Amino acid sequence: RDRNIVAELRRVTKRFGDVLAADHLDLQIREGEFLSFLGPSGCGKTTALRMLAGFEVPTEGDVLLDGEIVNRLEAHRRPVNMVFQHYALFPHLTVAQNIGYGLKQVRPRLPRSEIAEKVSKALELVRLPGFENRRIWEMSGGQQQRVALARAIINEPKMLLLDEPLAALDRKLRKEMQIELQNIQRSLGITFILVTHDQEEALSMSDRICIMRDGRIVQVGSPQDLYDRPMNRYVADFVGTSNFFDGRVTSVSGDLAEVTLDAGLTLSGRPIDKVSAGQAVSISVRPEQVHLTRTGGGEGQLPVTVHNRIFLGEHTEYLVIHETLGEFLVLAPRQSELNEGPFNTGDVLQASWDAGAALVLD
Ligand code: ADP
Ligand code: MG
Repeated sequence: RDRNIVAELRRVTKRFGDVLAADHLDLQIREGEFLSFLGPSGCGKTTALRMLAGFEVPTEGDVLLDGEIVNRLEAHRRPVNMVFQHYALFPHLTVAQNIGYGLKQVRPRLPRSEIAEKVSKALELVRLPGFENRRIWEMSGGQQQRVALARAIINEPKMLLLDEPLAALDRKLRKEMQIELQNIQRSLGITFILVTHDQEEALSMSDRICIMRDGRIVQVGSPQDLYDRPMNRYVADFVGTSNFFDGRVTSVSGDLAEVTLDAGLTLSGRPIDKVSAGQAVSISVRPEQVHLTRTGGGEGQLPVTVHNRIFLGEHTEYLVIHETLGEFLVLAPRQSELNEGPFNTGDVLQASWDAGAALVLD
């Protein structure tokens, strides 16, 4: 077996009565990677995590840790810890007591001095050095989150599972903790699995993202893979921003497919998966792939009117309207804009993109 695989789901299904919470999940988790489960609420992210942690037994299929099937192995016997959204600290205990608690349960004979040493190391790692004797109720939400993290890493798990750990924090603190979580993961070198419904969070933190929908895994890949080669419209929509134009494939030749849009126009694009004539598809064009110019009007150029403009510093985002395609977004780099001056609301421009940059998606 592959030594770099620390955990694996093999055709794992979980039912709760009539609800299919996990539907034939197949996933290999690599040693030392930062992996995210990304998907909307109810798609089965927590269920997948809980089966890895040992809080749920799969209805069908196998969960493996280090190459061994562990379907029924209790959570506390697995080299895995989990941090919950509501981190469930004991408010009346001190920080040190909270962090040491789990350690005492798994290693009851560990001398006090060693526990104290491990607690102090864990606190340094989460950047709360010297906070041993504080009470939980005296601490801010962000500090409490760090204590929960320290508690989860103190017994040196091989894998840390984090179920929307930052959801309760405000935006600024969440950003800080995202960076901190990455730093902690790198310094520990262990596998982190993060559950989130926040695409930006998944994109900025993960080595790989596992996109889920309705209990299924839709696609697994690096942020860049998913951005450049989304399997379908769902992924393209979840990872980054895209413009979608719906239609049917009229012909396929070489790398390109021709699509007649519901709006009447015909556009070409590059299919990611196999498509055939007559198939209903979406053409996906990323806003940064659209070029705007004042002049032109040749083949492949679409006359549009600028409806709205948002200055973003290096880029400007335009919302433009085409007579039959409707509204779509354009992200123009400052440099390209400087050649022709900034475009204003009401300007009539020509929009275009390379046919190869447009993706034809299921
Ligand atoms: P997510 O974490 O992506 O929001 P969950 O894994 O919590 O999704 O839930 C997936 C589906 O399984 C949902 O429809 C949810 O209502 C259902 N579910 C989860 N846990 C239970 C349970 N213990 N009993 C019954 N249904 C559950
Ligand atoms: Mg959940």
